[in-house]
Amino acid sequence: MAQLIDGKMISAQIKDELKEEVAKMNSQGTTVTLAVILVGQDPASCVYVRNKKRACEYIGIRSISCEMPEETTQEELLAKIRELNQDDSVDGILVQLPLPAHINEDAVIDAIDPAKDVDGFHPRSVGALCIGKPGFVSCTPAGIIQLLKRSGVAIEGKHCVVVGRSNIVGKPMSLLLLRENGTVTICHSRTKNLKDICRSADILVCAIGKPKFFTEEYIKDGAVVIDVGIHRNAENKLCGDVDFEKAEPIASKITPVPGGVGPMTIAMLMSNCVEAAKRKAQK
Ligand code: NDP
Repeated sequence: MAQLIDGKMISAQIKDELKEEVAKMNSQGTTVTLAVILVGQDPASCVYVRNKKRACEYIGIRSISCEMPEETTQEELLAKIRELNQDDSVDGILVQLPLPAHINEDAVIDAIDPAKDVDGFHPRSVGALCIGKPGFVSCTPAGIIQLLKRSGVAIEGKHCVVVGRSNIVGKPMSLLLLRENGTVTICHSRTKNLKDICRSADILVCAIGKPKFFTEEYIKDGAVVIDVGIHRNAENKLCGDVDFEKAEPIASKITPVPGGVGPMTIAMLMSNCVEAAKRKAQK
């Protein structure tokens, strides 16, 4: 039976560590401020933004809320970002995605000052990760590295298979595992012999967005299984890309859904905000 990798507990640990760090920074006269931009009223986005604000409150990060109407033009949004880029009191800028269809997401991400890019989506941040330079790392993959490290999983020399090559999960995940000296294989929808490749993984990261796709046939005895997927089934229950009941007896460690990767994303966003403020203070 696999040991559960408890994302709830580990994310709470990280938030407590950050809370202490921010209190220390405050006592030395440094504050941490995150600006969150929400365009429109997408219900899921509203929930995410609310959770991010709550996490800020808990840790002691000041959050500035910029709620803009659905019909905001791209130019208006870019102007808001420029204003926040220039505002010295703002350490991190987060634009909640997805944006309404009439706004080009790439143009918006490009407009954020890389020094305030706490989501880690700016091409400069991605490039820095690629060539091993300091920069902000996309929160979900950064959170997975923390889950592995804090659960005592050594990455060095392990065969790490990442299934999914999106810009926010699969690609940065692969680069981070490589940075940790894993031997990395990236799979995607055109990969041949997916089952065989997955079965050769010591660490298997599943991020394809297909509910319960990964069954026991994809998992080596004793593998560590990280499930990034989030889906709601017909009974409104959450499940992941991994068929937990089938995978759990074979894996040595596994993340549940909910309570695995999900809670780590906000914790790492908070960590990036604190890092941004520290870097600014060191300038
Ligand atoms: P995308 O849809 O952007 O990417 C999916 C990737 O999976 C693509 O690279 C695609 O390949 C690949 N893929 C799709 N089907 C298959 C298949 N049958 N076999 C092999 N590869 C396949 O998704 P994201 O990366 O954004 O998200 C993945 C999942 O993670 C989703 O369920 C999402 O909800 C969840 N998620 C969870 C987060 C969290 O905080 N827990 C944060 C972000 C995402 P190709 O490139 O060839 O099309």
